[in-house]
Amino acid sequence: MRAPLPALLGKSLPLLFALLGLLLAGSQALDRLDYWLYDTAIRAKQSREHASDIIIVAVDEKSLGQLGRWPWPRELHAQLLDKLQMAKAVGMDIVLAEPSLSQPEADDALTDAIRRNGRVVGPVFPELQDGRLVETRPIPPFARAMRALGHTDYELDSDGVIRRVYLQAGLGSLRYDSFAKAVEAVANHKPLHAPPPLVPPNAAHLLWQRDQIAMVPFAGGPRPYQVMSYIDALNLAPPQAFAGKIVLIGATATGLGDAHSTPISANDRGLPGVEINAFMVHGIAHERLVRPLPFAWKIAINGLLILLLDLMLSRLCSARNLLPVYALAGAGALLASGVAMLWGQLWVGSSVTAVTLLLAGCVRYVGGQSRLFTLATTDGLTGLTNRRYFDEVFSAALQAHREHNRPLALLILDLDNFKGYNDHYGHFAGDLILKRLAKELQASFPDKEHLPARLGGEEFGVLLQGQDLPCAIAQAEAFRRKLAALELPHQGNAHKIVTCSIGVAARVPEISDGTRTLFEDADHALYIAKRSGRNQVSPSPQPL
Ligand code: GH3
Ligand code: MG
Ligand code: MG
Repeated sequence: MRAPLPALLGKSLPLLFALLGLLLAGSQALDRLDYWLYDTAIRAKQSREHASDIIIVAVDEKSLGQLGRWPWPRELHAQLLDKLQMAKAVGMDIVLAEPSLSQPEADDALTDAIRRNGRVVGPVFPELQDGRLVETRPIPPFARAMRALGHTDYELDSDGVIRRVYLQAGLGSLRYDSFAKAVEAVANHKPLHAPPPLVPPNAAHLLWQRDQIAMVPFAGGPRPYQVMSYIDALNLAPPQAFAGKIVLIGATATGLGDAHSTPISANDRGLPGVEINAFMVHGIAHERLVRPLPFAWKIAINGLLILLLDLMLSRLCSARNLLPVYALAGAGALLASGVAMLWGQLWVGSSVTAVTLLLAGCVRYVGGQSRLFTLATTDGLTGLTNRRYFDEVFSAALQAHREHNRPLALLILDLDNFKGYNDHYGHFAGDLILKRLAKELQASFPDKEHLPARLGGEEFGVLLQGQDLPCAIAQAEAFRRKLAALELPHQGNAHKIVTCSIGVAARVPEISDGTRTLFEDADHALYIAKRSGRNQVSPSPQPL
């Protein structure tokens, strides 16, 4: 036997929900929700180390006020580097990509200072020049003198916010660690690559390669680094102030250098690149980098979670609790994703699971309610409307027809000598006849104004809205003939076939009319039909 469509659909619902989850994850439609959740978790997370070993030497407004407009003479950087001899590492997050034309000797001085310091890391980033992608990095003498170069290419999410960075990148190959990783490696004596040679200018068009993605370990609360004005670092702070520290030199002044939108700077003026690097150095040094789950894995895990949770919950939950339980499961998925990020250092992003589960809960709840409604209003054997629902519709129709002055008809139909049928063919065969009769009733009264119902036993009712007595009698007569024409064998009945008698009542309901009076009239008509020999239609005897 073939299962009906709703049953098939019901069975495949978990798969359909999982598929919806896959589509939602694949379309990245809910990325914004994931970003919001991620940012909220990030802001709630507090840095554990307040006083850290990272110092940002900031090219800030105060320094610009005293040292004049940028760029400053490079001797100043040379002086500063000499002061940073005791630092564990110095990240020079400032662009030194052009030689100083007016003071070439200043470049020599800075080259010497970089070499004397011995722990300086410089920045590299990709830039488009004349339609070609090039690496912008410190001029060759600086680059050669530096301990390492690191790339400062941060990843922008679709909402323009920086959350991720690739730990390795480079033009044509993965030539550089990220700037922060290189600084941390210098500080903690980890193995690192010396600055690679420049990409030859005549090299073919190369792509910017990237690998090893990580989330930038932003956190709310106090920053895990100190900030000191460049001018104070140069003039006030003693060299010992930097002993054992990681120093990052970079621009924080408004309009100078780069300021980016990040999860912790959503509503202010953005976070300077040097501060993003400081968060990265801190995260790498304390092994706090969170890895995002690869996209394919994210899709697969969301799909699987939806499938399993829906399979489990739809079996375990009562219809009444469906919605809150699914909503709780969705909230649980979000919470688990937060826990995995804060303590497992893995970012999954489960808004797809949460939203799909909520939708699944709604679908299942509505499905459950409509099943309950069907159960409450349908006759189990024949699938026709049951007496209770018929009475409700009848009562409402009676009132509406009275108000609109329209006629309303009621047929009551009873099988003839049905007890004899059961006695002769058995109860099961009797059931089949009742089902067959119901099917014929549905086929004969398909209109939305018609309502066939099983009133009980082998008695059926049909409500005909808007029909007067002659019309209703004609319809009843047509049905009586149709049933007889089927010639279903019935040994104990006249003509040896299954027949029925029908009583008809119809009128424009009056004030005094209720469902009961119409029922009684139709029932009386049925009684007359039976008494007059059965297999016939009889109208209510009273003038209507
Ligand atoms: P009449 O022509 O006067 O209506 O005679 P009848 O035998 O049909 O009337 P009666 O009320 O004496 O018997 C009705 C029978 O309908 C009795 C019962 O066995 C049968 N019946 C009622 N409900 C069901 C049912 O669900 N299945 C079956 N198979 N029979 C039923
Ligand atoms: Mg009967
Ligand atoms: Mg009966």
